Amino acid sequence: MNNNLPPTPPNQGIALPAHDLGYYYDPHVEVGLHGTVKLSPEVEKYCQCRGITPFMIMDPKSGEPTWCQCRPYRTKVYHIGQYIKRSGIPAPFRYKFLSDFKENYENGQPIPGVNQLKHRFHALIEGIQNGKESLKGFYMWGTPGGGKTFFSYVMLNELIFKFVKPGKFISLSKSFHELRHTFDEGSSTQGQAMSMIEVLSNVPYLIIDDFGVQRNTEWEMEILYNLIDARYANRRMTFVTTNQKVDELKQLAQGRIYSRLLEMCYVIHVSAPDYREMGNPEDKWVDLT
Ligand SMILES: [Zn+2]
Repeated sequence: MNNNLPPTPPNQGIALPAHDLGYYYDPHVEVGLHGTVKLSPEVEKYCQCRGITPFMIMDPKSGEPTWCQCRPYRTKVYHIGQYIKRSGIPAPFRYKFLSDFKENYENGQPIPGVNQLKHRFHALIEGIQNGKESLKGFYMWGTPGGGKTFFSYVMLNELIFKFVKPGKFISLSKSFHELRHTFDEGSSTQGQAMSMIEVLSNVPYLIIDDFGVQRNTEWEMEILYNLIDARYANRRMTFVTTNQKVDELKQLAQGRIYSRLLEMCYVIHVSAPDYREMGNPEDKWVDLT
């Protein structure tokens, strides 16, 4: 037998009902902090390998091992687990989905803008599902405690879960700290600045949390601009949360960061309705309230 495993046939022939991804999230917690992603019963029906790696069965016709039909779905389940684990989402917020959102935001009180955020995110998901992959993420601004960060976790979990692509959640001040550390003599990450930036420039989904708390040194602004510009060029979806008004962003890196982000993000205001009156029509608000 050839040592190289044959490629997975493109069509596995499992006709799944609409909305069945071939896997689902079972929220029941057996061990740890969250439930598990499982194969959908529809796929299980076709599985003959009983989930034993490398998910192969003996083909009765050829007498040779061949892929079990469950394999593409088991591969997805595996990747979802890996991507969420490495996403930078803090452990208690992994596997939080849109259905969890209501229970978790501020003291059970609805927050202005959040429903609009959900609505907009649904539209984004639907667009991708219909093959209209958009470059545009969200620029979410508003006072602290508006649920922006939690919603970002939810979005990233949803995107990874539904589209099985990697994503990263970063806090800007922490990332700059880590980047600076790569220049320290003898640091465990010495010399890794470029590869860290490379990952962030290319990862399909990036959430930049707490935009605006960075120190705004020339070095930081240059890195930030290059990162955002690279993501723009690579057509990668970017989400930003900030407590700052968009106007304040205009001052960063001579306005270059601001204009790039406006091209890449829908500006969405979360909470604090009094801020809205300060909006300038030129800022191209997507005010969804
Ligand atoms: Zn199988």
